[in-house]
Amino acid sequence: MSNAERRPAIKIDTDLINEAIKFKLYNKTAIPYLQSTLLAESGLFDHGFSTRLGGCSTGPTASLNTAFHTEDSAENVLENRRRFFDEFNYDYRKTVSAIQVHGTDLAVFDSSNHGEGAFPGSTCRECDALVTTEKSLPLAAYAADCMLIYIVSTAKPLVALAHAGWRGTLGEIGPRVIDFITNQYGVQPENMLVALSPAICRDCYQVGADIANKFASAGWNELPYMETQADNTCKLDLKEINMAQLHRCGVKKDNLDYSSLCTSCNKELFYSYRRDLGSTGRMIGFAALKF
Ligand SMILES: [Zn+2]
Repeated sequence: MSNAERRPAIKIDTDLINEAIKFKLYNKTAIPYLQSTLLAESGLFDHGFSTRLGGCSTGPTASLNTAFHTEDSAENVLENRRRFFDEFNYDYRKTVSAIQVHGTDLAVFDSSNHGEGAFPGSTCRECDALVTTEKSLPLAAYAADCMLIYIVSTAKPLVALAHAGWRGTLGEIGPRVIDFITNQYGVQPENMLVALSPAICRDCYQVGADIANKFASAGWNELPYMETQADNTCKLDLKEINMAQLHRCGVKKDNLDYSSLCTSCNKELFYSYRRDLGSTGRMIGFAALKF
């Protein structure tokens, strides 16, 4: 019996949370996680998005911090990753992740890449989107307010995972990954399922004039994408912009799932870089082709 099975489930009112969203929260064991109903029902992929609950970290990173680039110890991060991936029967030491640089580059991973980014100092590429056609190779990414975009193909075995903050969103990282998959593997956007993780909501995401102007120039200057307030400050909706970009490049509405949970509004459940003024942990998201 694993440690995960021995520890009691954490008490969360999942009914309340799950009522409003398609990205459901599960807390069968000590490690609660969220899953897109759409991706889960396809039966082809394993995936999940963590909360901050069930880990061993303390202080600002309490408790399931999964990223090394925080105030946490590497030992805690590794233990937390182990607990999370144990839930899905994957070996955390064989997962792959990249150094996220808020860019729009992507990289393809195969069986020779098992373990990239799994340990501090291990070989790691700099990119914000990961793609694989390899079975049982979990792609992982980290976020605290930024959005993770899960993209899977129903036509050919393929999964991708992208990380989008404002820079990635402005750079259209979602459509870039979709285009790459179409050009490289011949999978059309209508044969892709996409899910967007919890991320910071519009109410919590006020941006400066420099960022607002960039988005306005790209055509995202009105509701629901941007909200200009009486004092001329702007709030940005990363979820709405990413969804619009994905629809525009051919992803069907029925094939796009999202979480309406805000990482900043839900302090008990999530880390938030903005709310916690940078002193915080990171959630992990992963996607893998089932063996
Ligand atoms: Zn919020």
